[in-house]
Amino acid sequence: MPLTVELALDARATLGEGPTWDAEKQRLYWVDIDEMKLHAFNPLDGTDTACEVGCRVGAAVPRASGGMILATQFGFEAFDLETGKRTLLADPESHLRDNRFNDGKCDPRGRFWAGTMSLVREPKAAALYVLDTDGSVRRVLDGVTTSNGLGWSLDQSTMYYIDTPTLEVAAFDYDGDTGTIDRRRVVVKFPDGVGRPDGMTVDAEGMLWVAHWDGGRVTRWDPADGSLLLTVPLEADRVTSCTFGGPDLDRLYVTTAREGLDEEALARQPHAGGLFVVEPGVRGLPAVPYGG
Ligand code: CA
Repeated sequence: MPLTVELALDARATLGEGPTWDAEKQRLYWVDIDEMKLHAFNPLDGTDTACEVGCRVGAAVPRASGGMILATQFGFEAFDLETGKRTLLADPESHLRDNRFNDGKCDPRGRFWAGTMSLVREPKAAALYVLDTDGSVRRVLDGVTTSNGLGWSLDQSTMYYIDTPTLEVAAFDYDGDTGTIDRRRVVVKFPDGVGRPDGMTVDAEGMLWVAHWDGGRVTRWDPADGSLLLTVPLEADRVTSCTFGGPDLDRLYVTTAREGLDEEALARQPHAGGLFVVEPGVRGLPAVPYGG
């Protein structure tokens, strides 16, 4: 039976991104990068509240000690959801004014990994960073162009990573004790004509779910042999990211964008920028909050 994709929220986001499920609050956090907003969607009643962040925000994760941690155009920042106040923690690219932070996620030990991208599309000018739980920041990867999806294998020995223009999902050996990565290899190669890989999540069977920017779909892949397991088409070309949520982590939430679509394209996909949801028959893993 084909999977049914529902529009969970007709958000009309300019650049919807970075969904993360907060199991404690039963909310889906997501960001609209270009509108500089952090959203909280409540699937129980379908309501969505937006907080003004005041700058471009690429990713937001709950913090174990309260509030949120953001990866913004200014660096790593703490964010108080009640007051809307940002507090700068670290700006590892203060010397690179044309870069901003993009996608980010916590590893299984509660470190926040987030990478950057060039706003003027300078190739290989970006990097991937880790905000450790003691508040220090390390650069873990250079020569990145558009840092995007992140994920970890079930046995926590491997990190998956997407630098979008490579059209690949890479894997690295991941050392949880030290928070370091090594030995890059390719586990998924995007064929021509399906768009570019953007955000990503790992399901409870260890398979990868990848959002297709300009590809109008999310796909499920086996990282062991690079095989495509499932394609879920969406009524939006610019699919940005996905994550599992809901009380049983059995619903895949998918963010999309309206950015860059002309009137003709928007007429064909009026719900572009929406938050979509599908029950794919597999569960996800709980998101890890920032541990610092
Ligand atoms: Ca992205």
